[in-house]
Amino acid sequence: MASEVCPRGCPYAAGPWTFSRALRPQHLPLCFFLLLWLAAPGARAGGYETCPTVQPNMLNVHLVPHTHDDVGWLKTVDQYFYGIKNDIQHAGVQYILDSVISALLEDPTRRFIYVEIAFFSRWWHQQTNATQEVVRDLVRQGRLEFANGGWVMNDEAATHYGAIVDQMTLGLRFLEDTFGNDGRPRVAWHVDPFGHSREQASLFAQMGFDGFFFGRLDYQDKWVRMQKLEMEQVWRGSASLKPPTADLFTGVLPNGYNPPRNLCWDVLCVDPPVVEDPQSPEYNVKELVDYFLNVATAQSRYYLTNHIVMTMGSDFQYENANMWFKNLDKLIRLVNAQQAKGSSVHVLYSTPACYLWELNKANLTWSVKHDDFFPYADGPHQFWTGYFSSRPALKRYERLSYNFLQVCNQLEALVGPAANVGPYGSGESAPLNEAMAVLQHHDAVTGTSRQHVADDYARQLAAGWGPCEVLLSNALARLRGFKERFTFCRQLNISICPLSQTAARFLVTIYNPLGRKVNWMVRLPVSEGVFVVKDPNGRTVPSDMVMFPSSDRQAHPPELLFSASLPALGFSTYSVAQVPSWKPQARAPRPILRRSWSHPLTIENEHIQVTFDPDTGLLMEIMNKNQQLRLPVRQTFFWYNASIGDNESAQASGAYIFRPNQQEPLPVSRWAQIRLVKTALVQEVHQKFSAWCSQVIRLYPGQQHVELEWSVGPIPVGDTWGKEVISRFDTPLETKGRFYTDSNGREILERRRDYRPTWKLNQTEPMAGNYYPVNTRIYITDGNMQLTVLTDRSQGGSSLRDGSLELMVHRRLLKDDGRGVSEPLMENGSGSWVRGRHLVLLDTAQAAAAGHRLLAEQEVLAPQVVLAAGGGAPYNLRAAPRTQFSGLRSELPPSVHLLTLASWGPEMLLLRLEHQFAVGEDSGRNLSAPVTLNLRVRRAELRRSERGKKEEEKGNLALPQLICAYPRLQDLFSTFTITRLQETTLVANQLREAASRLKWTTNTGGVLVRGKEGVGSCLGPAGRGNV
Ligand SMILES: [Zn+2]
Repeated sequence: MASEVCPRGCPYAAGPWTFSRALRPQHLPLCFFLLLWLAAPGARAGGYETCPTVQPNMLNVHLVPHTHDDVGWLKTVDQYFYGIKNDIQHAGVQYILDSVISALLEDPTRRFIYVEIAFFSRWWHQQTNATQEVVRDLVRQGRLEFANGGWVMNDEAATHYGAIVDQMTLGLRFLEDTFGNDGRPRVAWHVDPFGHSREQASLFAQMGFDGFFFGRLDYQDKWVRMQKLEMEQVWRGSASLKPPTADLFTGVLPNGYNPPRNLCWDVLCVDPPVVEDPQSPEYNVKELVDYFLNVATAQSRYYLTNHIVMTMGSDFQYENANMWFKNLDKLIRLVNAQQAKGSSVHVLYSTPACYLWELNKANLTWSVKHDDFFPYADGPHQFWTGYFSSRPALKRYERLSYNFLQVCNQLEALVGPAANVGPYGSGESAPLNEAMAVLQHHDAVTGTSRQHVADDYARQLAAGWGPCEVLLSNALARLRGFKERFTFCRQLNISICPLSQTAARFLVTIYNPLGRKVNWMVRLPVSEGVFVVKDPNGRTVPSDMVMFPSSDRQAHPPELLFSASLPALGFSTYSVAQVPSWKPQARAPRPILRRSWSHPLTIENEHIQVTFDPDTGLLMEIMNKNQQLRLPVRQTFFWYNASIGDNESAQASGAYIFRPNQQEPLPVSRWAQIRLVKTALVQEVHQKFSAWCSQVIRLYPGQQHVELEWSVGPIPVGDTWGKEVISRFDTPLETKGRFYTDSNGREILERRRDYRPTWKLNQTEPMAGNYYPVNTRIYITDGNMQLTVLTDRSQGGSSLRDGSLELMVHRRLLKDDGRGVSEPLMENGSGSWVRGRHLVLLDTAQAAAAGHRLLAEQEVLAPQVVLAAGGGAPYNLRAAPRTQFSGLRSELPPSVHLLTLASWGPEMLLLRLEHQFAVGEDSGRNLSAPVTLNLRVRRAELRRSERGKKEEEKGNLALPQLICAYPRLQDLFSTFTITRLQETTLVANQLREAASRLKWTTNTGGVLVRGKEGVGSCLGPAGRGNV
């Protein structure tokens, strides 16, 4: 929807807002959090002092009372918190926390962990001071422990690493502000997500976690691990970062996150309680104790130490905590009483951190894992690879909101309080930050919630956009020096923008959130006519109109194109005016429509030529002119017929699970009706495959990639067949069963068809079992040539035959897949019709990374277009108007990505910088080389630092360093002065110098966690820093 924010009293009032002209808030000493890769001095007992005592010569069974509270799934977040709609699912988080706190107070040995800060913080703010004090005591004593501590327990397959870092930061910041060190989680806890990414492990390590526990992994993998005693090992989360920076001790929980069978004592369970009265016919102590001892002994066979863990709880349990604790009290007393009769099993209330502490003290040597835990299958025909693509519209909205949130954060940081309160009212980033955190939940961005919950997620995002639009208006007015009626066209992706479609003149301000300059093709729907576009200096720039026959105006309104040049971390304002004397039919180019062409059809620019088959209208060949590479590429759309169960298995394809019912997908159409559009600023081929599937393939001048904008839906299901639609690229590349996918948008993992790196796979679903998450890119290569496809949201993807790659763009299913959501993925609402973009790069394998890294960076953090009618009042009569602005005094080098610039309280900012290239990834332009940021030296001292040299000698930096060719960081930003810097861990919840992690010894040699001299002010390859 288009929305508009208007300054109070606009458009006349000058307003009472006086600011000094220079945006340098002298009264605000700003300091930075600097978060860098290496976070880890040697081990100490920090945070573990309150752990219970154990029996060194016995099998210690750590009972972990916990509740798993989904931040939306079958019910909305608010319905879960308050316990509304218990007819859908009995669940009320506020009662759980009330009940647990009371139960903990009854017995000092009882312990409980809590995970989801979205719920906890809400409950906390509703408590009295007295209750808050009681809870603080429980936390201090380790009786209430926070595990994970993110706003939500995020999904790992459909999430971008930037959003993961943001959501963890939000939750952990609440804990740090509320409980200090006592509340800081030591253990990451992802008991429910449906598969685990390597990047997540790397991030957790850099956040300072000592260990990680999860519940779901492939059933074959689990079986092999049990036999090999590898349920617990060290996960090496990065191929670029030098160990142990991204190493994380990782444990697989024995029962997912549920209690052992027959031992569930929640109000939601039916297992019999402990009956101690020998007179009662229900007396069950002996049977229960024997059973428990058997379960414990059996479990211990698959774990290396004399400690095992049992998760005592499940979804939304502990609403009546007394039931659980009363029976656990008895169980502990009764089982431990057997020690007098020779039993060597000791049961205790514990927590994940205390269990981890015992594993660490065992001082064993652990094996190392290098790959990830995708895809996840819980049976031969049950691959959880559908959710990689489920609800593509919501997935795109989430990614777009990430983009908008970063713009909002940056302008809040650059402009300061004048962005929060200004002529347009009060604006802030917090609501969108919280909504985005909620969207990372493993039933949100995954698309695995009920429909009404998915609608509520979208509502939360939309509600978060509003205050950010106000903030942007305040900030842009301040920076531009004019109070305009700013308009945010939220439907530009489908060519709807009321202002540009009706106004004869308007202003276009485009903000670039990257730390480097970009050129951006602006494309706006307009009324018919001829327009003149002027750049920030008032010079006319080339512009173009794309027109379609009038019968088609609804779908394709006339569009105005011009290329905008945007400064780093800043904006340019262009003006657009209609030429009044324009006569229809005068000059606008018309598309040429034909079913069939006599000779191959091409579109091209200076870098690329794309050829289409004249008979079928399909993409036929891509040529990279610079590298003289030609690759036959046939691209079209297919659909898998979704299984509804068969003789082999009753498993149907659903929101979670992908299960096609035949080997080969069916083409949507064997040919496409095509139209050619060629103007000075764009060349495009419009392909129509069917009434519900079309695509525009386009090239703009200067761009090195081909853009494929696809539109799919509503998928017809009147034939009673559920359909899963893919875009497939077929080439003759000899890829030897290999393809490559990103991990949460960051490092790249090699995938091999019908293969898993750590066990001999028995492949039972040849399509679904080869699907992997694609967050930003997938590629295939024969070693010489590489075909890369970038996505604009998370999707599932694969290469099911050599030379081929495919991405699942949409799915509509008529059956539920039996994983609890109990609703078929019909998407009858606004999610039924989806438009998206695939950006295709053809390059040499050696040069490919430079292309896809920088393009992906720009795709995730795209420029933000803001329109205004013009004619606004001056912001401040003394201030000169500005049509161009950069928040940076000079650009960042291309290998350094500005991940976060955000306000952090009234006097501080949070800055994260990262090296966005992996080790050895780019040889051509040397973009993989380390970059040194000298934070506290003068420009004249910008040379290889002594410290950097020392690090290099120690081997911490893989390659010779580059010196950044820009001024010292204190001078980097144009709107504020840095007065003090603090270096913190990745999530900014502890100073880096104070951070410590446990040491683990691995069978690859060496101790995992090094001393605390880290790279310091250097960013290693693929490194990330936070300032
Ligand atoms: Zn869950």
